[in-house]
Amino acid sequence: MKNIAVIGAGTMGNGIAHVFAMNGYQVHLVDVSNEQLEKALQTIDKNLWRMVAKEKIKEATKEQTIENITTFTNLEEAVKNCDLVIEAASENAEIKSKIFKSLDSHVPANCILASNTSSISITKIAAATSRPDKVIGMHFMNPVPVMKLVEVIKGYATSQETTDAIMKLSESLSKIPVEVNDYPGFVANRILLPMINEAIQALHEGVAGVSEIDTVMKLGMAHPMGPLQLADFIGLDVCLSILRVLQDGFGQSKYAPCPLLVNMVTAQKLGRKSGEGFYKYTPGSKDLVVSDSFA
Ligand code: NAD
Repeated sequence: MKNIAVIGAGTMGNGIAHVFAMNGYQVHLVDVSNEQLEKALQTIDKNLWRMVAKEKIKEATKEQTIENITTFTNLEEAVKNCDLVIEAASENAEIKSKIFKSLDSHVPANCILASNTSSISITKIAAATSRPDKVIGMHFMNPVPVMKLVEVIKGYATSQETTDAIMKLSESLSKIPVEVNDYPGFVANRILLPMINEAIQALHEGVAGVSEIDTVMKLGMAHPMGPLQLADFIGLDVCLSILRVLQDGFGQSKYAPCPLLVNMVTAQKLGRKSGEGFYKYTPGSKDLVVSDSFA
């Protein structure tokens, strides 16, 4: 595999493009929004400079990485010669099915189609294509250049050949792939999201404040980030979408999203990407400041 397309240039898409390009792949980064593509290139550039400053890569590698990325708003044009497409568009089953249907008719016959979905059924996404044996989940963790894990999700019809190729490819990126089966939330989010939801519920009930809840989990459980900070980092809209998938998929009330989370998403308080969630974010500042709504 040499030519890779990444669909969606948001939080995850820019990280996935960064990692592939840094490992010598030609990356076509696609988004419906030119502004998002511009923002993604700026983020990749900033993150690469950080790696140069930490002496993890040489400046020449940084330049080559940027050169390996081409941006597109036209999906058809971007994917026509690709060996692999990784979809990292918004966490919405309808959007993903539409993208996969379109990909299926524009990519070469042997191209593997992967989704970075956090929770949506790979089997369902694959059903939008005529090649379900070549559709797989490739769930990177945020931030992609830093986190080692790739959850590799086998849909009902995913072939062993496709799975083996993606496991090998993940290793070529210096990641550690773990193979899992296709059930709502897979492993990572089936376990993580109920914890985040419970932290939001505890805040909602007034058990403790934002920093108190996060401090308990950081110092008490040795988590590097508290669950509310992590929710902001993931994106509250993404958290809500995953909980809805778990709720629908298992039909159990324990996955029902906390009303506070629903309200915050409705109010477009989406966490770090919108500038405010449980904390508020000022560009250029690393200070963790609790949002005025919870101060
Ligand atoms: P995001 O909202 O930051 O970015 C999504 C991007 O997709 C946006 O730039 C949007 O313009 C673009 N998009 C929407 N429809 C499109 C289309 N039809 N064609 C091309 N681009 C389109 O979302 P994100 O956090 O990067 O999440 C992307 C995927 O990765 C989701 O499936 C999410 O569940 C998954 N994921 C997210 C995280 C996380 O921590 N945020 C972690 C792992 C996996």
